Amino acid sequence: MATPAEIAAMRRALELARMPDAPLGPNPRVGCVLLDPGGAEIAEGYGRGAGSRHAEIDALRAAGDRAVGATAVVTLEPCNHTGRTGPCAEALRAAGIARVVFGQADANPVARGGAEALRAAGIEVEAAPAPAVELPPDAEAVLAWAVREGATNVLRHADARHVRISVAVNRTDAALELVDDGCGRTRTEERPGADDGTGLAGLAERVARVRGRMDAAPGAGGGFRLAVTVPLEAVS
Ligand SMILES: [Zn+2]
Repeated sequence: MATPAEIAAMRRALELARMPDAPLGPNPRVGCVLLDPGGAEIAEGYGRGAGSRHAEIDALRAAGDRAVGATAVVTLEPCNHTGRTGPCAEALRAAGIARVVFGQADANPVARGGAEALRAAGIEVEAAPAPAVELPPDAEAVLAWAVREGATNVLRHADARHVRISVAVNRTDAALELVDDGCGRTRTEERPGADDGTGLAGLAERVARVRGRMDAAPGAGGGFRLAVTVPLEAVS
C-alpha cells in the first residue's frame, strides 16, 4: 500500500509532469518526487522532452547524497532501456533508493521491465494504479471500471488540453468483447447480460457527458485497448 505521504507525492509528481516546459510528445510526460523515510520531500524532477534527462534522473540530481534510503514516487514505471538516456531503474539503484512507488506501468515494450529490474536489485517496488490524482466522478468511474475489468495498463497522459486514459484489457472474459463491424473497423460491445451500469454503455455515456471521446482497438493476447480522452477542464 502506498502511504498517505506517497499518495500526496504522487499528486505533486503528476503536477510536475504537466509543467509548461514539459513538451507534449512523443515521450510520455513524467514527474518524480523523492521522499525521505519519514515521508518528507527531498527533491523533485520531471522530464523535459525526448533526449532530455528523465524525471527520475532530474530528481536524483537535485537530491544528491540525500537519495540514499529514499523513496522515489514516479508517475510512470521507471524505464529499463538505454536510449538516448540510461535506464532509470539502474540509476535509482545506484543512487541507493530503497523504495519505488509508480503510478502507471510502462506499456512501451522497449522501455518496460523497470519494476522487475528494481525488485531484482532488492528494492521495494509498489505499483499504485489507483487514481493518483483527484479526478472528477466521471473519470474516477472510468478508472474503477478499468481496474475491475482486469486492465493491465492504465495510462494517463495529460497534454495541454486533455487527459488520456489508455486501458489495455488483456482478459478475454471481460464484460466487453471486440466486434468487427464488417467495414474493417473494430469496436467493443458489452457482452449480453454483462451490463451492470458500469460497463461500456455506462462508460461511453460518462465520457460523452464530459465531451470526451473513446476509441477501441484490438490489443495483444486477445484483449483490446481503449483510449479515453477527456478534456482537461473536466478533471481540474
Ligand atoms: Zn527513464
